[in-house]
This record gives sequence, structure tokens and C-alpha cells, in this order.
Amino acid sequence: MACVMCEHASGRDVVASNILAAGFTDGCPLTPGYTLIVPRSHKPDFLALSSGQQAAMCALVPEVCGHIEARGHAHLDIIPRYRGSVEDPRGGIRWITPGKAGYWQGE
Ligand SMILES: [Zn+2]
Repeated sequence: MACVMCEHASGRDVVASNILAAGFTDGCPLTPGYTLIVPRSHKPDFLALSSGQQAAMCALVPEVCGHIEARGHAHLDIIPRYRGSVEDPRGGIRWITPGKAGYWQGE
């Protein structure tokens, strides 16, 4: 099955990249400049990555911030999710702006 994150990591929306990671703009941005940084290898979570892969992702932060600093204030969020903590986890952090959360519903 194709993974949307893996597809975007080599797609036209990439704004920063290195051999182990890529940063790309979100197709349905929560705010202007919203960018995701992902490892180039398909892994389930950040802690499953090698320290080199984690460092490669973090190394892209300054470059990504360079793309968005004129429009926003860069920061890192770590919001843990737990199985069963919400009925439907889709949308995640997007629920802080309810009109942006249901991207799969064809807003
Ligand atoms: Zn993937």
C-alpha cells in the first residue's frame, strides 16, 4: 500500500531535504507555511528511527523555518496520542481550528 508521507517526501512540495529526511508543505495547511518533516524511510514513529535519522530530521528545521519565518513563529509541538484516547484520531492537532480538521471529508 502506498504511503502518502513517503510519496510527499520525494514530491514537488519538498522545501528542504537531505539524504535521510525531507520537509514538505502540507496540501491542506492548518496555517500558511505549515510544513511536515519526515524520514525518507517508512517508520511508524520518531522513536523507531535511528539517532542519525532523528538528527537528519532536526537538521532540516532551520531551512524549513527560513521558508516560513516571514509568515509565522516556528515551534515544535510534542503531543502524545494514546490508543483509544479519542474516538477518531484523524485530524489530530487540526481540531484546534475545527474548520481545518476534517480534511478527509472534502471540506
Ligand atoms: Zn511512508
